[in-house]
Amino acid sequence: MPTLAETRRILADPTRIVVLTGAGMSTEAGVPDFRSPGGLYSSDFHGMHPEDLLHVDTLRNQPELFYEYLRTRLAFSAKPDASYRMLAELERAGRVIGVVTQNIDGLHHEAGSQSVVEAHGTLARFSCARCGRAADTATMMTPGTAIRCECGGLIRPEVVLYGEGLDALDDAIDLVAEADAMLVLGTSLLVHPVAGLPQLLLRQGKPVVIVNREATPYADYAGVVEINAGIGETLPELFG
Ligand SMILES: [Zn+2]
Repeated sequence: MPTLAETRRILADPTRIVVLTGAGMSTEAGVPDFRSPGGLYSSDFHGMHPEDLLHVDTLRNQPELFYEYLRTRLAFSAKPDASYRMLAELERAGRVIGVVTQNIDGLHHEAGSQSVVEAHGTLARFSCARCGRAADTATMMTPGTAIRCECGGLIRPEVVLYGEGLDALDDAIDLVAEADAMLVLGTSLLVHPVAGLPQLLLRQGKPVVIVNREATPYADYAGVVEINAGIGETLPELFG
């Protein structure tokens, strides 16, 4: 495994870095975890599993139940932490060309990142499924607010639900194609298709640096540096 100094060199200017972020990035910022034991996905709601509640069929057929779940379980108020701000700063400095995120909390935008591909969409934007009119997120997450637009269409979060495809994946692939290296932060790289993105760089002999508390399937790949530690403690060591 390369030393920290060597890893810093891999990511040093003028390397064009694409960043891939997952749940670990947001849990450090205070967003509840979805998949860990005790996380949001481990508890049923009205006898239904979260993956069924967050399914496009539930939105279509039981929109009130869908919104009740959203408003009681997914209304969290986290703010971008120093790691988010550092990624935005690295983008302004021309070192990060963009972020692909699996997170739906909108924190990269809030931190000031401009080039962000939200592979699973975002809970931070709502719009009418019929006419496209935008709706205020805080209002839509408030119990009692009407869930239909003036046009009669259903207002929905711009999040990719179960049963829907990842339209943003092409954008992610385009962004990755422009990069010289990838920095992976806070994802175990188990959920495809996003988990396959590092392959696109590795196949071209380009390096991938992974920072994640748990080991990932890529740990032993040639071209991969994996650091099993927190993001907040590691980023300053890589870029400080
Ligand atoms: Zn409408």
